Amino acid sequence: MIKKFFGRTNHPVITLLLLVFVVVLLYWDSSNISKIISYDLNNRSVQPPALPTAIPLTGTPFDYCVVNKDTGLSYQANAGTPVAASPVPFNTPVPETLETVSATTLAEQSAQSAEATTLPSPTENTTSILTFNPDVVNVDQFKADNFHVIFIGVGFDKETNQEILENTIKEVQLGFSGIRIDFAYVKNPLTIKLSHVAQMADFDNIIDFITLTAKIKSVHPTDGIILLLNTDEYIGDTGINSSGTDYAFVSGNDPYVIFSTTHEIGHQLGLGDGYNQYLADQIPNSELFYADSMPDFLARSLDELGYIPPLYEAGTCNSKKIYTFYESSNNIMGNYNPQGPSSWGDSVFTPLQIQIMNDHVKQLKGGN
Ligand SMILES: [Zn+2]
Repeated sequence: MIKKFFGRTNHPVITLLLLVFVVVLLYWDSSNISKIISYDLNNRSVQPPALPTAIPLTGTPFDYCVVNKDTGLSYQANAGTPVAASPVPFNTPVPETLETVSATTLAEQSAQSAEATTLPSPTENTTSILTFNPDVVNVDQFKADNFHVIFIGVGFDKETNQEILENTIKEVQLGFSGIRIDFAYVKNPLTIKLSHVAQMADFDNIIDFITLTAKIKSVHPTDGIILLLNTDEYIGDTGINSSGTDYAFVSGNDPYVIFSTTHEIGHQLGLGDGYNQYLADQIPNSELFYADSMPDFLARSLDELGYIPPLYEAGTCNSKKIYTFYESSNNIMGNYNPQGPSSWGDSVFTPLQIQIMNDHVKQLKGGN
């Protein structure tokens, strides 16, 4: 749910190694650097349109830029409040010996293994990232000018990893029809140490991520990485590394895994967060903006869309009014809690979000 830039390390040797890796990656991936440069409001390609009268808020306006008593731990961490991170527990696989024992023992063992799967297990690395050789399977026809998303299972056993990834991708694909995107996954599961603060996750060792990205990119031109975690913790978090490759963590065992994965890939394709949380450093974005300083990419996508969608008041940032397009409770990037069909039709994304995602791919990859 959260979008952030990575880069948290204190050890001087790690910092030095990190710098060397980042320089190498930046050189390697320089075509993507423009993507991580923030928008320049003074250098517009299209003037923002005149906005219609906004549909007013009912109730107290939410302030997106003030930490309050309801602000989640990960947002407090984002706002600078010190919050301790915990290791991400990965579930232990069911023992293979179950088939060879008697029915009574089986029942006992099942009860034990059911219990074991709900307990946090140590997150020791059994396989070093250095020996991880990604075996990539393309789900869609690979096209060079598509946005390439790759799924990696983390902490699953070898037998179930492939099936879980295939099933997840099959459902997630439905939300992205009409968008220039293709999906692939890595057949072999990854074991890696992660920590989290509420839904916000990160690598314990940033070098692991740099090594992983380099390995994946050496066998598959990758724009976005989804790390699907075998954990019962609720995690949904997107970041962007210095080389311009977006990565996201999602809980594979969460009942809303399709929702959260679709939401995180929406971030990778240029969408922002629009729901009620502390989002000070992320405003304005595609979902929340000020009437007098709409981001250039949003103005351009509106121009290409050819009409102005319904405009709503969304709340405030330090008392300054913020607006959003479309009704928020059906918006997968917004205060998503749909109670009925979307006003814009069957797609999980609004027509404007689809336009923004397509424009994002066009800007990154060229073509039409
Ligand atoms: Zn989000």
